[in-house]
Order: sequence, then structure tokens, then C-alpha cells
Amino acid sequence: MPGVEDCVFCKIASGKLPGDIVYQDENVVAFKDIHPKAPVHILIIPRKHITSLVEITDEDLPLVAQMIRVANTIARQQGTGNAYKLVINTGGDAGQVVMHLHMHLLAGKKISTPV
Ligand code: AMP
Ligand code: ZN
Repeated sequence: MPGVEDCVFCKIASGKLPGDIVYQDENVVAFKDIHPKAPVHILIIPRKHITSLVEITDEDLPLVAQMIRVANTIARQQGTGNAYKLVINTGGDAGQVVMHLHMHLLAGKKISTPV
């Protein structure tokens, strides 16, 4: 699986760094954000190292769709009802800090907080 040596999220996905993983399959991993901004704050990532949304190719589109499906599954598991927010910060100026594509799943009473 291609990745980047010093990418924190690649390391969590491969088990080299600990993460509070709530879901994983062969393509997608989801784990709790270390600094939660809402009662439910989970990060959903592809195992494939993609730097950001601007880097995705047509070939990656099914993977992004799978991430959304996983978000739906997790939201149900976490008992969020039908209320949750998905955020993908893209690029440093938009607040992206970790340069491995990730989707924030936010739910709970504080979901109005921006990430
Ligand atoms: P972003 O600003 O969209 O790049 O979000 C990066 C998110 O990753 C932040 O909400 C961080 O709290 C979270 N984060 C960074 N390192 C870790 C880690 N080792 N485990 C879990 N979450 C992390
Ligand atoms: Zn990575």
C-alpha cells in the first residue's frame, strides 16, 4: 500500500501509530479525533495516501463515495439520528493541517462549531 513515511494518518491506518479506530475495511479507516470539537468527532480516511480533495482522480471517486457511506454507517452506530455534519478541509488556507485526505464527521449538540 503506497503511503508517505512521515504521514500520521498513514501510520494510524497501518497500525504503526495508535488510533481509537471505530471502523475499518480494506479501503477506509475511521478513528476518533484526538481533539474533538463536538460530542461525536470522527475522522474518515482512505487507506490510500491522497494529499487532499484536489488530488483525487476519477479513479478515486468510488473511494470518496465509500467514505460517505462509511460516515452514514458510523453516524448510525454512534446514535446520532439523522443529524450530522461532514467537513473536508482542503488546503492550508482552508484549515487543512494533516495532508492526508480526511472527512470530519461531527455530531451532537455542538455541531455548529466549525472545524
Ligand atoms: P484538519 O484541520 O482538517 O487537517 O484536521 C486534522 C484533524 O486531525 C484535527 O482535528 C486534529 O485534532 C486531528 N488529529 C491530528 N493528529 C491526530 C491523531 N494522531 N489522532 C487523531 N486525530 C488527530
Ligand atoms: Zn497518508
